[in-house]
Amino acid sequence: MKSIVTGGAGFLGSHLCDYLLEKGHEVICVDNLITGTTKNIEHLNSDRFTYIRHDVTKPIYFGDKIDYIFHLASPASPIDYLELPIQTLKVGALGTYNLLGLAKEQGARFLLASTSEVYGDPLVNPQPETYWGNVNPIGPRGVYDEAKRYAEAITMAYHRYHGIDTRIVRIFNTYGPRMRVNDGRVVPNFIMQALSGEDITVYGDGSQTRSFCYVSDLIEGIYRLMMSDFTDPVNIGNPAEMSVLEFAKVIIEITGSKSKIVYENLPVDDPKVRRPDISKAKELLGWEPKVELREGLSKTIEYFNDFGLLQQQ
Ligand code: NAD
Ligand code: UDP
Repeated sequence: MKSIVTGGAGFLGSHLCDYLLEKGHEVICVDNLITGTTKNIEHLNSDRFTYIRHDVTKPIYFGDKIDYIFHLASPASPIDYLELPIQTLKVGALGTYNLLGLAKEQGARFLLASTSEVYGDPLVNPQPETYWGNVNPIGPRGVYDEAKRYAEAITMAYHRYHGIDTRIVRIFNTYGPRMRVNDGRVVPNFIMQALSGEDITVYGDGSQTRSFCYVSDLIEGIYRLMMSDFTDPVNIGNPAEMSVLEFAKVIIEITGSKSKIVYENLPVDDPKVRRPDISKAKELLGWEPKVELREGLSKTIEYFNDFGLLQQQ
């Protein structure tokens, strides 16, 4: 089995490469390192692993037969996609188009890494896959949300019109080792602030909610979905919802930090609630998350400490 993982040098992509190699796949990681790093894949010295530096908004061809394409390439942190708006739109649109073209040529199965952001600032909580969302197309987050919504639309069009075998996973907030220390997302921000004794920056009043999934659970869900025969989008995430303020308190408690909580402006269009309805994943894939928040956070904190990332800030 030969698999391509786009965005394979990023946080989730590198864990997926590990997992596929364990399952015996030959893995080709395609990444332009715009938000990823080869440090995430340097431990992969298997002769079944290849890394190609390439921007997937440009076409890519392979002589050998490809069986599976996991399309994860895209800036994912709000800070990244606000700094890289055009690249984010291009990778969702042109990148997805190019990889669907490759899937068509190769007869490969294609999986799109979509996102809970397709639901925008949801008016329904928890969010089932049948919810169409509440997205501001011209707001600053629109570049990411609409890129992913377009990516879903073109994936379904290739499925319906060309008969391509496709999968769409809607990923909810996921965390774990190999997140960039300074990627701006709430998990690395709060952990690094707590470890270094800096103030913990809660945006708004912290009443907005998220639910956090540990990376190993997410990767298992993605793999099961790819190997299933289900074409419609499937939510993968952890339904344990909490407010951002509660989350800050958990981080302070686990790290034993003396950091204080401070309040800063809420980013524009920041979703007020987010929680996946995972009934479909449970029923179709027999999947549900296993790793408790405190266990996953301890492993993540250990990673940030182990790698001396504090010094690299
Ligand atoms: P990440 O930034 O760590 O990884 C993204 C990777 O894609 C990086 O290595 C980056 O260099 C690469 N990339 C970006 N544009 C590219 C291009 N044009 N060509 C080639 N490579 C390119 O982010 P992540 O958290 O690992 O997210 C991976 C995927 O999962 C993304 O598609 C993201 O939208 C999706 N997702 C993640 C989460 C989450 O909580 N982590 C939530 C929802 C969706
Ligand atoms: N957030 C926060 N402080 C930070 C970083 C993020 O309060 O230092 C909040 C952010 O406003 C959002 C939530 O935490 O409500 C999750 O943010 P993240 O950037 O991780 O991802 P999002 O869920 O918004 O895509």
